[in-house]
Amino acid sequence: MSNYQMYLNGKWEDGEGSCPVINPATEETIAEIPVATDTQITEAFQVARRAQRSWARMTGVERGNVLRRWADLLEENRDHITRVISQEVGKPITEARGEFDFGNSWFRYYAEFDRRIDGEILTPDKPNEQLWIVPSPVGVVTGIIPWNFPFAVAVRKIAPALITGNALVLKPHEDTPLSALEIARLAEAAGVPPGVFQVLCGPGETVGEAMVKDPTARLITFTGSVPTGKRISRNAAENVALVSLEMGGKAPFIVMEDCDVDAAVDTAVFSRFLNCGQICIANERTYLHQSIAEEFTEKFLAGVQQLNLGDPLREDTRIGPKVSREELEKVEACVEGARQAGAEVLAGGSRRTGGQFDRGFWYEPTVISSVRQDMDIMQKEIFGPVVPLMEFNTFDEVLGLANDSSYGLAAYLFTNDMNRIMRTIRDLECGEFYINRGPGESIHGFHGGLKESGLGGDDGTHGLEHYLHRKCVYLKFDG
Ligand code: NAD
Repeated sequence: MSNYQMYLNGKWEDGEGSCPVINPATEETIAEIPVATDTQITEAFQVARRAQRSWARMTGVERGNVLRRWADLLEENRDHITRVISQEVGKPITEARGEFDFGNSWFRYYAEFDRRIDGEILTPDKPNEQLWIVPSPVGVVTGIIPWNFPFAVAVRKIAPALITGNALVLKPHEDTPLSALEIARLAEAAGVPPGVFQVLCGPGETVGEAMVKDPTARLITFTGSVPTGKRISRNAAENVALVSLEMGGKAPFIVMEDCDVDAAVDTAVFSRFLNCGQICIANERTYLHQSIAEEFTEKFLAGVQQLNLGDPLREDTRIGPKVSREELEKVEACVEGARQAGAEVLAGGSRRTGGQFDRGFWYEPTVISSVRQDMDIMQKEIFGPVVPLMEFNTFDEVLGLANDSSYGLAAYLFTNDMNRIMRTIRDLECGEFYINRGPGESIHGFHGGLKESGLGGDDGTHGLEHYLHRKCVYLKFDG
């Protein structure tokens, strides 16, 4: 077992008491992490404010070089960090490597903006004047992140915040704090000045809440669930702080009769069961045109049978455990609720037990049919290895079903009909479309949800904008 400390003002500190970090595959305590005190939280923000001013005065190239060095150092520690990711989330090691490579690439991508954070020179209305729009960092940023991608989502916040001259105080999820602390371990060697990047640990309801309420923070960038995002939004409003919220999803996966059914099956399996279903853009509800529903279901069930549950550190494991007992119980309740509402379980439908599975938070890959649109399983985020299948008759009908949701993050469509593709992009209320392909954002795309899935968004140039204010200058000179 390891003891971790928090990273404050360039130093490692204990807090008050500690929280255990549990390996969800074995239920062993793999680490103890400190809980930040109110005094430490206040100090972290004051330190961040002072450090941010000097950091912002450095050139973009100097800041970019720090990000590049950080990426190099992380790369040198890839084997160790991917094991940490795998052990704290219960994620298969092959997926942990994917998360690491994807996450680390944000450092290099945003480092490229070292000479590209541009202002504008506008045409003035008056003689002998200059009119400029000047980019300026927002100041101190609070980052609050979830447990499902503890490394990648941390870098997704750190890299854009720092390249734009901000300081970031980050709080990882209390169940999976180690990846962020591993990133912090290399901050000093990368050249990050003390206070520019800090990591505070502890429960969201206390430490997270106090961080959001600290008046020094001018932007709260959050990834997590809808109820927490709403609460953060209300708390941030008290300080008139900006918010960027990346929240849950209920992605529809639409399979039309004219598509390549085999490709749709493979993608539907992958996009539901990756990371044990714990992905915001996962296939949460599969809609099948009635003419291919039987063929699809048969092939889908065969695909699900092949998914190999097991020790996340084994190279051939496809599915690990759920991240925590609480999350396991949520999935169990969701399947039980569907059963009671009249749904039929075609595969799985219970915990996996026996042998190594008697310890840990294991749930069988589960396929459900005979569902109705008004059931909770079609309306609430499952966030686990469970997928409901539902038939439809017409394209108009399925567009209506897909839009019948409080979420609006991602959507999948399998068809070869260009008209249907164009109508989906125009009419479906969501932020991210995967058409005839599986999930996975590009670092230079834009990841942001509509409706209750979010406000703002991450990645690319549009994600970078949240970290900047635009000042406007009217300058008169003696003509
Ligand atoms: P969560 O909302 O429970 O926790 C997220 C973070 O918020 C944690 O660090 C937690 O400690 C903190 N927190 C909790 N209460 C808080 C409060 N009152 N004030 C401040 N911080 C608080 O979410 P989770 O269970 O960690 O993550 C799963 C959810 O995240 C799912 O809904 C998933 O869809 C969503 N998610 C979204 C994206 C996206 O990009 N849209 C990506 C990953 C996960």
